[in-house]
Amino acid sequence: MTGAEALAKLGEYTYDVVLLDVMLPDMNGFDICRQVAGKLRPGETSVIFVTALNEGVWEEQGLLLGALDYIVKPFSPTSVRARVRNHLNLARTTRELRQAKDKLERMAAVDHLTGIFNRGHFEMLTERELERAERGDRPGALLLIDLDHFKRINDTHGHAAGDKVLVAVAEAWSRELRGCDILGRVGGEEFALFLPETDGAEAEGVAQRLMRQTRALAVTCDDEVTLKVTASVGGVWTRGGRADLKTLMRVADRMLYRAKEAGRDRIEIESLEKEDLAC
Ligand code: GH3
Ligand code: MG
Ligand code: MG
Repeated sequence: MTGAEALAKLGEYTYDVVLLDVMLPDMNGFDICRQVAGKLRPGETSVIFVTALNEGVWEEQGLLLGALDYIVKPFSPTSVRARVRNHLNLARTTRELRQAKDKLERMAAVDHLTGIFNRGHFEMLTERELERAERGDRPGALLLIDLDHFKRINDTHGHAAGDKVLVAVAEAWSRELRGCDILGRVGGEEFALFLPETDGAEAEGVAQRLMRQTRALAVTCDDEVTLKVTASVGGVWTRGGRADLKTLMRVADRMLYRAKEAGRDRIEIESLEKEDLAC
């Protein structure tokens, strides 16, 4: 195989182990190593040089370029096989560890019932967005969405039916949102939504859409009854990340309370400037 062919294949497939000669018809194996070094995932693709260049300086060069092994010709086939087997095991173990780490990170970030962010991750992502809003003097809105009379659903149809409703609303809302919006479950039947680059009027529009989606849902529970649900929304919007998340949450919570008091299935959104932040 020529160096160019090897490069093309390395770009196309993922290999656990690559045996690479240094002296190739068209190029130098070290150059190949240099070109692919940034593209290979560390620990997942092991490069092994197999070469007639037997001086220590070349071996050092190969290993410095990221190769994990350096075999000098003439070589013993059994020894090469054994080394390849070891590197295959290393690649498999590394991949498994990486998958386990990804899964743990997902589990730490996500609410297990609904699959949207949990409270901790919602807060972390939103705080990051607020910092960005502050730097760019950009608007942002926080909505707290609470299902109305949710306890009745549990009491009448059971906890499993309530869970089904929670999953259904989270799914319906997620479909409505942009990729940059941050939706989290912050309490039993309470959700928080941060909308970057969004002012009060736009946030009101989003809240209207979410409430429409909520009303349109028909969740069938195990006793064949179709459940209907509504939500109340309390919100606050600000410009330039003027307030921290704790303050935004407090104001949104007050607005949510107002929406509940006013009869539920409604929206109350406040601009932060009008709020008395001290209380
Ligand atoms: P309101 O309109 O004032 O918000 O009334 P509500 O009944 O929705 O509010 P309340 O705070 O009285 O009740 C919330 C209920 O949510 C009580 C609790 O059993 C239920 N809940 C909390 N977490 C879960 C959950 O994970 N699954 C289910 N099925 N229910 C939950
Ligand atoms: Mg509720
Ligand atoms: Mg509640």
